[in-house]
Amino acid sequence: MKMHIAHSQIVYFDNNATTRIAPEVFEAMVPYLTDYYGNASSAYRFGAQVSEALALAREQISALLGCSPEEVIFTSCGTESDNTAIESALRTSGRNHIITTAVEHSALKKQCTALERRGHAVTYLPVDAQGLLAVEEAEKAIRPSETAVISMMWANNETGVLFPVEEIAALCKKKNILFHTDAVQVPGKISIRTADFPVSFLSISGHKFHAPKGVGALFVRKGVRFAPTMLGGGQEKSRRAGTENVASIVGMGRAAELALQHLDHERTTVKALRDHFESSLLAQIPGTRVNGHPELRLPNTSNITFEGTDAEALLLLLDKEGVCCSAGSACTTGSVEPSHVLSAMGLDARQAMGSLRFSFGRYNSTAEVDRVLAWLPSLVQKVRASVP
Ligand SMILES: *Cc1c(COP(=O)(O)O)cnc(C)c1O
Repeated sequence: MKMHIAHSQIVYFDNNATTRIAPEVFEAMVPYLTDYYGNASSAYRFGAQVSEALALAREQISALLGCSPEEVIFTSCGTESDNTAIESALRTSGRNHIITTAVEHSALKKQCTALERRGHAVTYLPVDAQGLLAVEEAEKAIRPSETAVISMMWANNETGVLFPVEEIAALCKKKNILFHTDAVQVPGKISIRTADFPVSFLSISGHKFHAPKGVGALFVRKGVRFAPTMLGGGQEKSRRAGTENVASIVGMGRAAELALQHLDHERTTVKALRDHFESSLLAQIPGTRVNGHPELRLPNTSNITFEGTDAEALLLLLDKEGVCCSAGSACTTGSVEPSHVLSAMGLDARQAMGSLRFSFGRYNSTAEVDRVLAWLPSLVQKVRASVP
């Protein structure tokens, strides 16, 4: 086991991997981990109280998503929401073809690989050097009466680049196919109004917006047919069986409220922090560049290539200073594969392997950014000197 590090010693710049539970969220959860342990499905009042707490959380989540409470299904995570949406789309449409992108999170990517092995056809849409995707590419890929669904992430977890989900949703509606978006990186960063564009399914995950790990939600638009994956009890109107993870759902509801309240903070303060970090870094360290479109990007994410370095070596040195950030996505850390996202944007293996993602959040400060800016140039120099 690695040596432990106290949380007070770390500088946490990895908010796209997971986030700290907000104190308000923890506080809201505690009663449901201690005194209010009833089963929401029970007939007595002690269960009904819990059922009311779930109803409140459903309202809080629907406010975050701009939908009605009946359109929210609680799940165990973002991965489950993604997988369920695609399975449902295939089963209810009876069609065989999926359109997705080359840069999805592994939750979608691995599922598509498995579906291809089971005989489904998958088209992976390319992105350009800035990570952007052309709507015409999606339109060209549609196969009439074969395409079941387009699944496209709203914001990329590695670069923060945003996809034109509103336009794609309109296209899908016109072509009478389903549209799913993995919006796991979006809550609290940009506003989500499902009522304003015809998205069929939308996935979120609690731990990406200051709720606990192991809870998520899937938006399913009213009128869109849904085939459940989890069968059993009648929870979630029989759309997702299994006794509810009450405390975590309550926490996610509270986190949704906070996410809405913090939208402006994210767009101003967090973005300013990120921009200060990037411009200082680029000015101080030659041979660095930012990956992803400069504007069409989440306000909190910074993906940087340090030419002539090795991200794993940089990560180790940063870890020694207590700085948490990541090379590629967390799911590929520990392997030696270059990021599929950066590769799809045309970076060669060396550039991709020399790239780090810094993702900021509401608990970060300018002082932390400046501390890291003070170390980073010499760390990069050190790694450059040692890389052949
Ligand atoms: C984190 C993440 C997921 C997976 O969510 P989990 O709750 O960890 O399963 C899916 N998609 C994106 C874009 C993510 O960032």
